[in-house]
Amino acid sequence: MTQQPPNMNLSVDEALERILQRVPVLEPVSVPLSQAFGLILAEEVRSPADLPGWDNSAVDGFAVRSEDFATGEALLEVVGEAYAGRIPDLSVASGQALRITTGAPMPAGADAAVMVEDTCLEGGRVRARGRVSAGQNVRRAGEALREGQRVLLPGRVLDPAALGMAATVGRSTLRCHPRPQVAVLSTGDELVEPGLPLRPGQIHDSNSYTLEGLVRLAGGEPVRFGLLEDRLEVLKQALRRSAEETDLVLTSAGVSMGERDLVRAALEALGGELDLWKVRMRPGKPLAFGSLGGVPMIGLPGNPVSSMIGFEVFVRPALRKMAGHPAESRRVLRARLAEAVDKPQALRVFARCRLAESADGSWRLHLTGPQGSGILMSMLEAQALAILPEGVARMEAGDEVEVRLLDHLEGWRLQVRP
Ligand code: AMP
Ligand code: MG
Repeated sequence: MTQQPPNMNLSVDEALERILQRVPVLEPVSVPLSQAFGLILAEEVRSPADLPGWDNSAVDGFAVRSEDFATGEALLEVVGEAYAGRIPDLSVASGQALRITTGAPMPAGADAAVMVEDTCLEGGRVRARGRVSAGQNVRRAGEALREGQRVLLPGRVLDPAALGMAATVGRSTLRCHPRPQVAVLSTGDELVEPGLPLRPGQIHDSNSYTLEGLVRLAGGEPVRFGLLEDRLEVLKQALRRSAEETDLVLTSAGVSMGERDLVRAALEALGGELDLWKVRMRPGKPLAFGSLGGVPMIGLPGNPVSSMIGFEVFVRPALRKMAGHPAESRRVLRARLAEAVDKPQALRVFARCRLAESADGSWRLHLTGPQGSGILMSMLEAQALAILPEGVARMEAGDEVEVRLLDHLEGWRLQVRP
């Protein structure tokens, strides 16, 4: 018989705090720039030099001396060319101009550039009209960056601009927290791979697909361990192997009260530690957290919505901590319920909602249909989770609640509803 863990029926906040205390931040490693996208930087990056390293032209045109334009027009002798990529050996004397391309170092003698569009060639000479001031169309040495200037700080997400900046200052590798490898195990005798026919009583495994997607969105790398029967030996072997090969083990199902709910028993039989079990929330109550050989393990409930909400509330923050994120990123706002909701008084309820803007600019929350923990349609439509607090048994239409935006999904969500 499985032992009861010391921490049963914790509140969401207590459980999250325990989990976050116990998952490690992964040790930084050196990562090639081309593989660092989305990782979290673990060092400070400075510019080794002024940038640009020399005054250069911001336009394609002619390098000139502004004093030659005192009358508002000049006809200048074209004495040569300056290209990006090398320092010109020619200089510009009074009455002369040098053809120049964008990014080419300014030649000695010239203090401005005129755009080719504002000029016309007359034989070997160029005519330009208009006022030209000193420095016009010239990018100054050091105007973008100064030698020694800090450009990236630890904790920075390596987004496109950050990668570009690292490359700009010449870095080919960066010290980053590695992407957490996350084992995804679906347990349950009733499960069948999608694509295969179902016998009576069987269902297709959907949790491994939702969880693998959520792992990716949270910055982890899912490692698929497939479908596992509800047999102690099978579960023990898969748990042992997944804890050896990954940074975090995620299981779905087999953690509630049923006779075939053997995930906790398998963990303990392997000498692992079960730290907490069951959280005062809905959906997602039968959640387990523990560790095996120092590798954290989170046992999510089997119901498809429960496993997704358990991921959102506990796994996502844990993964972000492991990946080196300094802070939670979810946007939270307050909004009014468009309809009344009954709830168990002792539990915190995460209601799946759509947001609609009212005429006065405030937000109203509409439940995404039936909220049963097996009804995945409620997640498919959800833009946000309304957080219905412990201590109340009913929320009325018009009540204001805290809302957590699931806006990481927006880029993926189709506008078309089935
Ligand atoms: P359990 O936690 O094992 O009692 O499972 C709770 C419910 O979730 C049952 O109705 C299971 O059939 C269902 N379930 C378990 N695993 C999955 C899965 N991988 N995909 C879809 N549904 C599942
Ligand atoms: Mg089961």
